Amino acid sequence: MSFIPYDLDEKRLKEIQLEGLKWTVAHVYKNSPFYKEKLENASIKPEDIRSLEHIKHLPFIDTHDLEKEYPFPLRAVPFEEIVRIHASSGTTGKRKILCYTQKDIDVWADFFARCYELAGLTQEDRVQIAVGYGLWTAGAGFQAGVERFGAMAVPIGPANAEMHCEMMIDMETTVFCSTASMALLMAEEIQRRNLEAKIKVKKIILGAERHSASMRSRIKELMGVEHVFDIYGLTELYGPGTGLDCSHHQGIHYWADHFIFEVLDPVTLKTVPPGEPGELVITTLSKEGSPLIRYRTHDITRILDRTCSCSTPFPMHDRILGRTDDMFTYRAVNIFPSQIDHVLSNIKGIGSEFQIHLKKQDSGRDLMTIRVERTTEGDKADDVYLAEHLATEIRRKILVRSQIEIVAHGTLPRTQKKSRRVFDSRNGDAT
Ligand SMILES: [Zn+2]
Repeated sequence: MSFIPYDLDEKRLKEIQLEGLKWTVAHVYKNSPFYKEKLENASIKPEDIRSLEHIKHLPFIDTHDLEKEYPFPLRAVPFEEIVRIHASSGTTGKRKILCYTQKDIDVWADFFARCYELAGLTQEDRVQIAVGYGLWTAGAGFQAGVERFGAMAVPIGPANAEMHCEMMIDMETTVFCSTASMALLMAEEIQRRNLEAKIKVKKIILGAERHSASMRSRIKELMGVEHVFDIYGLTELYGPGTGLDCSHHQGIHYWADHFIFEVLDPVTLKTVPPGEPGELVITTLSKEGSPLIRYRTHDITRILDRTCSCSTPFPMHDRILGRTDDMFTYRAVNIFPSQIDHVLSNIKGIGSEFQIHLKKQDSGRDLMTIRVERTTEGDKADDVYLAEHLATEIRRKILVRSQIEIVAHGTLPRTQKKSRRVFDSRNGDAT
């Protein structure tokens, strides 16, 4: 049995999206006072939605809408139809609560099952779940997906590494689902305790936390697994499972029959061309309890305008490149520190720490200087070549000119918390 509709083509997908968009707008207009007011303020009636292009006329919703409408924001069904709630943390102290009908729970399990299918699991697989359970959506989603798919769930949650090791060996776990930091912790623990020969894990599915390419390859190497997959999702969108990279790892296939993903310039809110990074804005197409219309995720990614070598009919977006708050504008280009990180991570001879310094030159033009460390084995004599190489790569990948400064290993500060990357003195602020 297949959960992925392999016979879906682009035309049919667009038809499903339009039907879903029409349904969603009509549903919230009729059943949610919050949305009705929003739509009326924008002078939109459900019958105005006649093509997918019309999504552009719909108003946005943002985190503060969910927080403001606490405790049951976006609710579009009577309470007797709600079978569960989940929550994610808000920014102002109040949680964002999302309602689920039985159909919502079923749809979620169905598309989560697709993730496991895309990752190449079979019913023989044993899936150890190390993400949080309860109010948070992660554990519930991973587990429902396993059960729907027909593999065996080993639901543990974020317990200690010892408990995970014990269960991993005794249950003969083949797939491990966790955050990237938990997977790395496990990989190190397994090595430390010399358990490699007893571990049968072949695949790791990482969710709930952003991580770098280098972290992913370290996990892959240490655990000796075949694949490390990246799953996307948000509590606002049912939970994790809205898409996964297939075994070609070319991008994250997302379930475009359940969602419309738009990537917009976070400042102008206009669509950016495929391949260019921007803010991911999501509309749900079949969600009943708490539907989303043009929800601003503040996650940065891009739509990948290419077909994957696998036969999945679903489009792809890139990994999450950052948050809109991290973005800066340099010479009219929106740049995210993670894009610089990505370029740096593919260049030999430099460390993973970096800083971006922005200043105004006497000529009035902006100048970006990227400060990076040479590796411990690096030779100062190679700096000129390395800097030139790096500047070329930045120009090629991000389309801006920059100046590169290479400093000795250990020069840049390390912090336990997320390091500060961008130092902007263009408006006269001291850095
Ligand atoms: Zn693929």
